[in-house]
Amino acid sequence: MTLTRENKNLSSEKSLQTIKSFAEKYANKTNTYFCIDPSVTAVVIEGLAKHKDQLGAPLCPCRHYEDKQAEVKATYWNCPCVPMRERKECHCMLFLTPDNDFAGKQQQITQEDLESARANI
Ligand code: SF4
Repeated sequence: MTLTRENKNLSSEKSLQTIKSFAEKYANKTNTYFCIDPSVTAVVIEGLAKHKDQLGAPLCPCRHYEDKQAEVKATYWNCPCVPMRERKECHCMLFLTPDNDFAGKQQQITQEDLESARANI
């Protein structure tokens, strides 16, 4: 059987492109960089896009929540979260300051990198 986007439980193409575009623009705006390992960036973007599909908002995908809908309403962990907006702290390693050992030189991610990470989810 061929696995489709739906039965692999992946995000929609629309949300994926929306989050990709947001992440690229936001990195540029905040002078932050994507991880040297693009699969890290790709997995976080996929997680944000999936939450956007499921919850209507890009709730941070790197945390555990008792009640995701309540967290979306609280807004604190909707990306970009408060720690990122206030202190440039992204514990998902999506947005890294240039002095971070894991920061690469890219503020963009290719479609190929996104798809190859999604193929392994
Ligand atoms: S830690 Fe904050 S900025 Fe980083 S992906 Fe999660 S919500 Fe977005």
